Amino acid sequence: MENIMMDLHTHTSFSPDAESSLKEMAQRAQELGLRCFAVTDHCDVNFWHPFSHYFPGKTEGEITDAMMYGSGRYALDSIAAQHELKEKLALSGSEMKFFAGVEMGQPLQNEEMALKLAEDPRLDFIIGSHHMNMGVDDFYYLDYGRMSAQELNSLMTDCFEQMLEMCRWGKFDVLGHLTYPLRYISGEYGIELSLDPYEEIIREIFCTLIRNGKGIEINTSGLRQKYGRTFPELRYVKLYKELGGQILTVGSDAHRTGDLGKGIPEGIELARAAGFEYLTCFERHEPFFVKI
Ligand SMILES: [Zn+2]
Ligand SMILES: [Zn+2]
Repeated sequence: MENIMMDLHTHTSFSPDAESSLKEMAQRAQELGLRCFAVTDHCDVNFWHPFSHYFPGKTEGEITDAMMYGSGRYALDSIAAQHELKEKLALSGSEMKFFAGVEMGQPLQNEEMALKLAEDPRLDFIIGSHHMNMGVDDFYYLDYGRMSAQELNSLMTDCFEQMLEMCRWGKFDVLGHLTYPLRYISGEYGIELSLDPYEEIIREIFCTLIRNGKGIEINTSGLRQKYGRTFPELRYVKLYKELGGQILTVGSDAHRTGDLGKGIPEGIELARAAGFEYLTCFERHEPFFVKI
């Protein structure tokens, strides 16, 4: 079996869009022989409150998955369950290191709640992600087929500018999937979008992360989707390294047991190709390095 040493980006059924329970994911992680495993359920903090807060007059049955995405109450349940699992695994003398995590979306769209999450003493690891521009739906839901080149450009400019703001704020450990919108724009809609116009701001994002002692991830989910590449791809992992980046994680972004560890060997190869000899894990937000 291939060596899938770590997977630091995974979801369980505490995430509204994921299938497998925490217990099932942890069992699968042990079967795969992962040395380091983190669960990072969604918490898009701009959807923190109970649904009635955002959708007055609607009953829960009328609320769609889109509306439910990442509600804070699920994330808090996930963190509590992960904390329990971590203690259980430690007591059982498990070889696998388990890290309690969360994928925090759009922290600056609800900073008060983001701070609460950042200060939660039970968490080892936080991925900071940008899934939607301010006042706009998740990139998943947008109709790129109807957008002009100019509209697409303004969407991407806003995306990277808001991501940069998030990195300046910096209360997380690694930036999630730098090139997330490409999953839909290039993968689902087949629009080849060059990121050359955004090179300068991507550099600034990397420099800001490095200055703040934060890192990036290689998110391998794109390899098993239509996009066919990692988020971000090699070119940007190389750029990050050239700028002095050292903190790098890999994660499958699995939403079910079948995807756990998928693409991790390729992700590790890509890290090596970019010049990395170590990957990073986090215990209580303290980075430690694992040789690859
Ligand atoms: Zn994400
Ligand atoms: Zn995710």
